[in-house]
Amino acid sequence: MTNKLKYFIGNWKMFGNLNSLRIIDQIEAFCNKYRKYRQNYKVVLCVPSTLIYYFSNKIRSNFVSFGAQNCHKNNKFGSFTGSLTAGMLKNAGANYIILGHSENRLEGDTDKEIKQKIESAIKEKLNIIFCIGETTKEKRSGKTFKVLKKQINNSISKGNEMKKIIIAYEPRWSIGTGKIPKVNDLSKIFCFIKKELRKNFKTKKSNLVLYGGSLSGKNINMFSSISDVDGFLIGGSSQSSKKFIDIIKNYYK
Ligand code: PEP
Repeated sequence: MTNKLKYFIGNWKMFGNLNSLRIIDQIEAFCNKYRKYRQNYKVVLCVPSTLIYYFSNKIRSNFVSFGAQNCHKNNKFGSFTGSLTAGMLKNAGANYIILGHSENRLEGDTDKEIKQKIESAIKEKLNIIFCIGETTKEKRSGKTFKVLKKQINNSISKGNEMKKIIIAYEPRWSIGTGKIPKVNDLSKIFCFIKKELRKNFKTKKSNLVLYGGSLSGKNINMFSSISDVDGFLIGGSSQSSKKFIDIIKNYYK
């Protein structure tokens, strides 16, 4: 097992209320108790915006950080009913933000808008978890690499502060479906993403690349053999402390 820092990032989606603090308490207690793993992993929980301020004030933790799940493309206050700027989320206590999630792409987020959101979030010094991934149809027609290349190059600018951008490869066909890619395919995809980033953005240090899609305590172990995976974006299983903790424990088994 590698000793490299791994990220376990939860995406709570539209889930949770003030009572959900107990889930975070349990995750925090686990991180505290299992100090032997501490040097190896970092936990980030991307919770609904309504909970960021409350959680980040209640849980003053060295182990758990909080993130948001999306923001508006404009970073100035304005007439955008129901929207939040990256700065407002940072002000509430977020240190991370998910952008480009396929569920938001399905609701209309374009590569161009995601690019503006990334720029807004970088201005606010947020760490960005930028989601990319192909649909079933694109996979079947052999377009995975082409789609990933387009998503990366259309939404990241050459001038972006690359160390603030973490890529999450989340095939759309895997999110919430129980289907996960084959190890062989994943290794090739991770190698492709890292190469593409190095080539286009001339990064000295390789960007972090995470996998996300239908992860559970039962399937996490197969990822231990892929050294290019820098961590995981976990949806459904992050809404339960037991399931989330099982993923971390079983990864290091
Ligand atoms: C996600 O929505 O980012 C995700 C990975 O979902 P799930 O783990 O539920 O497939």
